[in-house]
Amino acid sequence: MSETFDAIVIGAGHNGLVAAARLAKEGKKVVVLEAAAEVGGLLGGADPVAAMPFGINPKIASGLGLARHGLRYGAPMKTLSFGGGERVEIDGSVARGVAPEMATNYAELHRKLTRYSGALAKMLTKAPPRFRDGGLGDMLSMAQLGLSIRGLGKTDMRDMLRIILSNVWDLCEDEIGDGPLAAALAMDATLGGAMGPRSPGTVLTLLYRMASTGSGGAGQRSTPISGAAAVVSALTKAAEASGAAIRTSSPVARILVDNSDRAVGVALEDGTEFRAPLILSNATPRRTLLDLLGPQHLNAEDVARLRHMATNGMVARIDLDLAELPEGLSEADLGHRIVVAQDMRRIERALNAAKYGELPTEPAVEFTGRKTDAGWRLAALAQFAPCNLKGGWTKAKKDKLAKATTKAMEAVLPGIGGKITGWDVRSPADLEATYGLTGGHWHHGELRIDQMLMMRPFAGAAQYRMPVAGLYLCGAGAHPGGDISGLPGWNAAGQAIKDGGAK
Ligand SMILES: Cc1cc2nc3c(=O)[nH]c(=O)nc-3n(C[C@H](O)[C@H](O)[C@H](O)COP(=O)(O)OP(=O)(O)OC[C@H]3O[C@@H](n4cnc5c(N)ncnc54)[C@H](O)[C@@H]3O)c2cc1C
Repeated sequence: MSETFDAIVIGAGHNGLVAAARLAKEGKKVVVLEAAAEVGGLLGGADPVAAMPFGINPKIASGLGLARHGLRYGAPMKTLSFGGGERVEIDGSVARGVAPEMATNYAELHRKLTRYSGALAKMLTKAPPRFRDGGLGDMLSMAQLGLSIRGLGKTDMRDMLRIILSNVWDLCEDEIGDGPLAAALAMDATLGGAMGPRSPGTVLTLLYRMASTGSGGAGQRSTPISGAAAVVSALTKAAEASGAAIRTSSPVARILVDNSDRAVGVALEDGTEFRAPLILSNATPRRTLLDLLGPQHLNAEDVARLRHMATNGMVARIDLDLAELPEGLSEADLGHRIVVAQDMRRIERALNAAKYGELPTEPAVEFTGRKTDAGWRLAALAQFAPCNLKGGWTKAKKDKLAKATTKAMEAVLPGIGGKITGWDVRSPADLEATYGLTGGHWHHGELRIDQMLMMRPFAGAAQYRMPVAGLYLCGAGAHPGGDISGLPGWNAAGQAIKDGGAK
């Protein structure tokens, strides 16, 4: 006998939890089935892979009453960006440690980017409109975006349209010049993707990231008080308080489809079956459609699009244990986002090696840290570290990356190398094996112009509805993509509720 629900959510990543909480709040009987032993996906566990949660979107936080469930944000994180002998502190529109003229130019650039990202923000909290065959709602959505951009005024509108598809390199070169300040912006524009500062579309990815960030606003990362665990705990409580059941250690093996090609339930690896007219998957698009649903339920074009979807993850997580902190790095600094890239040129060079399946000799690094019983632990992200590394990810390759990362840090924080007592590297391939994360990709699939908006995850499967009726995608592979925003989960649940389970 299989249990019956109104909706099944596959995966309890933060997006799966948001989707479950919204569906349950709307009165649906919901079960969440998570493969791992704990909830939260990359945000879960004692040492979450996503160490700097960017902030659940404020609309979701208030819609689900997350403050009531213990989620509160502290002051936005600052960014500290190090160059050879330079330490630049970025606090919203204020840059310290740079020449006065550069600080003034940066403030103006920040003002513009904040306005432009604000115009995009309205697109992120709902299903992307369809150009072809779109209904009245789609046309209104497009009109709303047009009006938001028009509302910027003639000068800013023209400027936004001029820069939006260009690259962050040219933008920074024109406005502030290269150096640690530009490197911090370029990291924001490229982190998690397979694009360097010179790649077209990196102004759009920068604006996108600024628009989707939570209560800090304007691209500043908000810090949840009590860290990532507070986000996972609040989302779990919100879902459960509305009646959703969450079952861990329950890996879904198959999505069940009836004779009329409609998704009607799921089967776990142990054969247990659950039935529901709505199935929302927090797994990646490729895993959902090729592994759980099966290509036999898709047309050849969709299978080809899925197989060609860019999903080569480029970020490795490296934990570094330190006996003590080096000179130039204080305990207070570790509460902030620390960028070690020096300038945009080095970030671009790090991508060059990765394009050919090699490790960079000087990765671009971003880290935060905390005190432990034995000293300090830095949670570092090293890019670009390709999932499809030539020769595969051996221990020797991981050590090579850790040493290159340490060397890059040593160049701006002299003495740090000698304080390191151990490291642990999680490659994109490890993340794929542990979390079913296709390619170990940060966004479940590259976030670039041909895989965004109405083309996310691929043309013909946008608006959260997958090619089989009753099946929705609610994770980072859906619009508007990755980071810890909750937006894909929120929007997917909204779409499923709107469809009422009967497309
Ligand atoms: C190295 C790295 C560092 C990152 N750091 C940050 C950061 O600091 N800040 C930030 O904002 N973002 C960060 N990100 C991005 C962020 O982690 C992701 O965008 C986010 O986790 C996506 O959330 P999600 O809920 O869509 O999916 P996930 O967190 O990937 O969760 C998916 C869930 O589905 C489950 N699942 C998959 N298949 C099945 C199945 N068959 N049956 C049942 N369950 C299944 C998985 O176990 C998992 O729990 C990072 C990403 C990476 C790779």
